[in-house]
Amino acid sequence: MVIKMIIGCHVNFTNEQQLLGSVKQAIEYGANTFMFYTGAPQNTIRKNLENNLILEAHKLMKENNIELKNVICHAPYIINLANNKDPEKWNFSINFLKQELERCKTLGVKYIVVHPGSAVGIEKSIALHNISSALNLIVKDDAPMILLETMAGKGTECGSTLEEIKIILENVDSNYIGVCLDTCHLNDAGYTLNNFDDLLKEIDENIGLEKVHCIHLNDSKNPLGTHKDRHENIGFGTIGFDSLLNVLLNKKLKDVPKILETPFINREYPPYKFEIASLKKQQFNPNLMEDIVAFYKKLL
Ligand code: FE
Ligand code: FE
Ligand code: ZN
Repeated sequence: MVIKMIIGCHVNFTNEQQLLGSVKQAIEYGANTFMFYTGAPQNTIRKNLENNLILEAHKLMKENNIELKNVICHAPYIINLANNKDPEKWNFSINFLKQELERCKTLGVKYIVVHPGSAVGIEKSIALHNISSALNLIVKDDAPMILLETMAGKGTECGSTLEEIKIILENVDSNYIGVCLDTCHLNDAGYTLNNFDDLLKEIDENIGLEKVHCIHLNDSKNPLGTHKDRHENIGFGTIGFDSLLNVLLNKKLKDVPKILETPFINREYPPYKFEIASLKKQQFNPNLMEDIVAFYKKLL
């Protein structure tokens, strides 16, 4: 039986190669989708998009069965929609996200993942309200869709419970907004992935399964409910290979792209080619780390 999997990982988006470089990297990793930042995730410096690179990227995607509707953009994590104590900063976040939507539109990308934001010094209920207000200024039905990511609850992060995500969504006027589930974040926020069908039911009741358009498939370095947010390689963390495979193979989520954001081995070697291969085979590789190091050392 052939099981359809939409699986990819975080890839680079360089100034020189832009989307074309991202596609090439995804293909190298054996992925049929990918996620990228339009520049460095920790800053908001962005270069103009080059049209010929976009056309070449789309052509290469077609040749390799990578569908645009499965490709995900991630907004830089320094933008914060939750705190408006400094109106200038808050407006900057809003305007930057608007520009990101334009960039995604130019690239043909349909979804952009956004972290809801951190309250930092203001009440949680007000922070949640700020996020919705900001989104009301940004969300447009004819633009790419914003997907709010479920967070680990590190520090004053908003959106670490399904209830919080629900509150944010309820106060956004438009229905044109979705959710990205991050398995590491769910685990660290206290939601076990061992009984995934139960969790899906809870997600459906609070948010609606039809709102889930992306899944970040990561293992976690920390036990359930520790609010840490440290990603681990697939099968080497506290969630484990079988539970993550269950998420990947779940029929209700079969059309939702799964994106790996797992750490590099020795901070140097990308794990994705090997993690994707083992997930496709549905078989845990206990020698994953050693295999990756050996593979990339031979390439050097
Ligand atoms: Fe994220
Ligand atoms: Fe994530
Ligand atoms: Zn994370």
